[in-house]
Amino acid sequence: MKVFFVASEAMPYAKTGGLGDVTGSLPAALHMLGADTFLILPFYRTIMAKNLPLEQVMTRTLAMGGRALPYTVLRHQQTYFIAQNEFFERDGLYNTHEGDYPDNWMRFAFFARAALETIVALGGADVIHVHDWQAALLPVYLSVLYPKRREKTLLTIHNIAYQGLFSPEILPDIGLPSSVFTVHGLEFYGNVNYLKGGIVWADEVNTVSPTYAREIQTDEYSFGLHGILATRREHLSGILNGIDCSYWDPSADGALPHMYSPSSLAGKVQDKESLLQETGLAAEPDRPLFVMVSRLVAQKGVDLLLGAFDQMMSLPISLMVLGTGDTEIETALVAKAAAYPGRFVLSRKFDEGLAHRMYAGSDFFLMPSRFEPCGLSQMIALRYGSVPVVRRTGGLKDTIQDVHPKTGTGNGISFDDATPSEFLDAVRRAVRLYANGDAFRRIQAIGMACDFSWQASAREYLALYHSMEAPS
Ligand code: ADP
Repeated sequence: MKVFFVASEAMPYAKTGGLGDVTGSLPAALHMLGADTFLILPFYRTIMAKNLPLEQVMTRTLAMGGRALPYTVLRHQQTYFIAQNEFFERDGLYNTHEGDYPDNWMRFAFFARAALETIVALGGADVIHVHDWQAALLPVYLSVLYPKRREKTLLTIHNIAYQGLFSPEILPDIGLPSSVFTVHGLEFYGNVNYLKGGIVWADEVNTVSPTYAREIQTDEYSFGLHGILATRREHLSGILNGIDCSYWDPSADGALPHMYSPSSLAGKVQDKESLLQETGLAAEPDRPLFVMVSRLVAQKGVDLLLGAFDQMMSLPISLMVLGTGDTEIETALVAKAAAYPGRFVLSRKFDEGLAHRMYAGSDFFLMPSRFEPCGLSQMIALRYGSVPVVRRTGGLKDTIQDVHPKTGTGNGISFDDATPSEFLDAVRRAVRLYANGDAFRRIQAIGMACDFSWQASAREYLALYHSMEAPS
């Protein structure tokens, strides 16, 4: 079983969120099960800066938009990079502080097309597994340009809110015929929708948790795509993401000042002290430390946090947020940081090491998401003994069971309604749990024992690939 992953980010090369974690770890998990897995990524400036030992595989030219676009395919281990400096030698993957790159339509159409040509030139595959809108045109190109090839395609939707919507005028420039621009194809309220292209043309479509697979078939969660998803219902499934448990391992995590394991949490206590010191939070290790490591966008429910903020800060807690995102959200949080010095710290950056130290040094991990396709952060938090406080949606619903006051079961605290008062109520429950040291440690231990490794889910993916395989 030869599988090519095509994605716009993957660890350890480039990452802006959970997509990068998944495409970085799932191929290796599949490889362990005997699949021959490869990955194709754009060759971004951040990857160039790593000075990896690279093999030059081939140089090709694509005619797109009336231009000849040369590119080089480079290889590092199981990963192929599409090097095209005009499109990818930039500081950000998708955007600058001012917003999305205006030529993203061309960058990722080109990427999908060049990735397909690369797979063909390398002798083909059994399955091409594409991820999100940035790679979603690949099944369309495969069907238009190579209708007789044997490759089967799987589209994984990591977040249906991001669809790649562009003006219909781009169609000739991305090399697709007007015949694909119909309501049953790429057309979406007058625009071209890349993700929809993948949904229509991929042989199978899946998303990253069973609950989200159900949710995106509803008007409320589909961002307009429930109609087209209904036509693919028989080919739509949900497979829960896993995490790379050797990378996210508090007993072997070099980013931590002190390592620790479920049987000895002394290092975690010290990590909390170090984190308070590092960030300038008041040295009050007896107060529960709540953290959030997240993209600061509406999806993540930061408005619930802001709506409950002042009442929350009247509780005996410390709070830290790490993230970047929408300017209004960042500005509102900056104002709160000024209002609560020593109690609340905001770190506006992407910092992998600090994220690790926050998972380790915190007592509670906040994820009040309005929607959450899977969510990896809550699984990482569990593994690091930080009890998740989550809204019951998508993958959060599939991974976090509410603490039961009588039986003492559950691995976190969850709430239903996306309102500041329900969120505040959940935080109050967390504070009460923390005050009862034994109960808190029991829930922490249950969380640390949860298995969110890729093993089970990688098996499900492999079974899905086999179900798609062309009869030989
Ligand atoms: P999403 O993919 O929607 O951003 P996930 O929970 O699936 O959310 O994955 C988020 C991943 O990105 C986690 O590994 C989290 O630790 C990481 N992350 C998010 N923001 C930051 C940040 N500012 N600095 C470091 N890591 C971050």
